[in-house]
Amino acid sequence: MPARNARAIDPPAAADPGSLSVGVLPGVGPALAQALSRLGLERVQDLWFHLPLRYEDRTRVTSIADLRPGERAQVLGTVEAIERGFRYRPQLKIAIGDDSRQTLLLRFFHFHRAQAEQLKPGLRLLCYGEVRHGAQGLEMVHPQYQRVGDEGPVAMDERLSPIYPTADGLGQKRLAGVIDKALALLPPDASLELIPPELCAAHGLGSLRGALLYAHRPPPDAPLAELAGGRHPAQQRLAFEELLTQHLSLKRMRAAVRRRRAPTLDGDGQLRTVFVGRLPFELTGAQRRVAGEVLGDLAQARPMLRLVQGDVGSGKTAVAALAALAAVEAGWQVALMAPTELLAEQHLRSFRHWLEPLGVAVEWLAGKQQGKARAGAKARVAEGAPVVIGTHALMQEGVAFARLGLVIVDEQHRFGVQQRLALRDKGLEGELVPHQLVLTATPIPRTLAMSAYADLDVSSIDELPPGRTPVQTVAVTNARRAEVIARIQAACAQGRQAYWVCTLIEESEQLRAQAAEVAHAELSAALADYRVGLIHGRMKPKEKQTVMDAFKAGELAVLVATTVIEVGVDVPNASLMVIENTERLGLAQLHQLRGRVGRGAVASNCVLLYQPPLGQLARERLNVMRETCDGFRIAEKDLQLRGPGEVLGTRQTGQLAFRIADLSRDAHLLPAVQQVGEAMLSQQPRAAERLIERWIGGAARYAHA
Ligand code: ADP
Ligand code: MG
Repeated sequence: MPARNARAIDPPAAADPGSLSVGVLPGVGPALAQALSRLGLERVQDLWFHLPLRYEDRTRVTSIADLRPGERAQVLGTVEAIERGFRYRPQLKIAIGDDSRQTLLLRFFHFHRAQAEQLKPGLRLLCYGEVRHGAQGLEMVHPQYQRVGDEGPVAMDERLSPIYPTADGLGQKRLAGVIDKALALLPPDASLELIPPELCAAHGLGSLRGALLYAHRPPPDAPLAELAGGRHPAQQRLAFEELLTQHLSLKRMRAAVRRRRAPTLDGDGQLRTVFVGRLPFELTGAQRRVAGEVLGDLAQARPMLRLVQGDVGSGKTAVAALAALAAVEAGWQVALMAPTELLAEQHLRSFRHWLEPLGVAVEWLAGKQQGKARAGAKARVAEGAPVVIGTHALMQEGVAFARLGLVIVDEQHRFGVQQRLALRDKGLEGELVPHQLVLTATPIPRTLAMSAYADLDVSSIDELPPGRTPVQTVAVTNARRAEVIARIQAACAQGRQAYWVCTLIEESEQLRAQAAEVAHAELSAALADYRVGLIHGRMKPKEKQTVMDAFKAGELAVLVATTVIEVGVDVPNASLMVIENTERLGLAQLHQLRGRVGRGAVASNCVLLYQPPLGQLARERLNVMRETCDGFRIAEKDLQLRGPGEVLGTRQTGQLAFRIADLSRDAHLLPAVQQVGEAMLSQQPRAAERLIERWIGGAARYAHA
């Protein structure tokens, strides 16, 4: 359909007010332009697409009797009492009452004396804030408030106030004012719209101009609940375009990589045959199928971009080893990267164990490695050492490879899209681009695979090795800790081994280590007949290894650990796991941790200790864990409970920091997004570029600043 390409949807640049600098707007001088630029807002169109995070309704007041905790509301009330706390703990508390004859407490931890002195019983205040449960009933902490006349009607806003993402030094009012001025320059739909009209019509997409105006300036009668949920047709129209843009941008990146050439890795299969023959197990059907897909890609002269997903324990490492051997057979180098040192070490051991008997040397490069060892390893890599394993510091620190043919990234659930792209860019320097294999332990729900991973082909290892027994899981309150310890004692008496996982969520590894030491002392005292080991992230790799070896050999009955054991640890005889503070952990992490048991033939158990009272979310998470061991179901549930940004570990940065779209809420849009995306890439590549420039361009420049 060549005619389609010919239709210009680009108006001449001069006629496009969106591409002008924000400086053309009245009242925007250099200082304001700079403040805007810090938010990534440089062009007029950046302001058009700087969408509200939420809306505040100050068009009406809510009576105190109707307030509900968790909601934001405007209240009109009369000051009944004021308290300023005492000298060493100043705290301003204002009780206000209204016609509903109920009282609301306004609480300020920071305040000026003058502020407190201006307030007297009998004054009327108009307040806006979030309602919550306090010790003395409903309260608002640090609400906005203003004095209003003592009698008569009070002037309220006529429409909902949009609240924008902003930064210090740029207030909402000022930002909203500039956005108003930018919106005055919005061109008619015909020149604003980048999605071809026939695709808009086919998918029922309404006016973009109308959607923007509505989202920025909803009318007084706008349905607030629908807007708050992001489900208004105007918001959905914008979400569609944003999802489409993300899809196009990943596809474009993929296309850029796929246009490059990669070495064809089609060795004679000798190493692979010996490797498979020496394995103490048969590969599962799923492992064979996925390995076949990977090897097929490697034999092409185009770079592979493939994600292998498989539940914890599904045997991804063996598939990765097969891919690595294919590269080595063909005379190319392989780099394997893991997000943590412990996981990288685990891979190092597996690979050395499997590959060195075949005469394939495995090099080690990690962040903590010192001077000489590091220099030596780097030199051997530069000379062509066949396999290199390390943390992602490996690629980030200018390691030169002689002939890098394959990069394997073990993503677990930690590498975000952003890092993946950064690593990919690294690989793009040479003449030939290495193939890329991404392994992920968190099964990726279909909706995410279609969007966040649109740049990758996906293979699934959807079968566990035979002989695994599902883990019986129970949730138990901390109050019954003594019973749980007695249960460990009983398990040890039967010759079983147990993990006790401390999950203190603290930034510092030191605090985590301390918490584990405390638990270690407690368990050592309670289980005097058994040896209890301890492992945490502050220990040297050698020390960790000694402890792991002792546990593996059965010399330790119990292993107290921080979440360092989350990945890679493999002791089939350990069939009981106790996890502390589970109310604070996410599903993906709980699933990873529990994946350490249930690896042998004995029936395994997992005890999830929690501190009541449980919030709604925590309760649901623990229920999911009790009900299923199926990683796919857990991942779907996780997505539902937490949202995709969190699931992918890219909440605030990177490609998935959507302005308006929400992958779980808007998943129903994805099939159409995909169709429109394919059509645009083949028929309107220039318009696709402009969409990316519109939605991601500014933000991307900002991120690189
Ligand atoms: P993951 O997919 O979580 O990375 P691993 O590759 O670490 O899983 O494999 C988990 C354990 O299962 C390892 O001990 C590995 O040797 C073993 N394993 C892998 N494949 C098979 C198989 N086909 N049969 C039996 N055990 C297997
Ligand atoms: Mg693994």
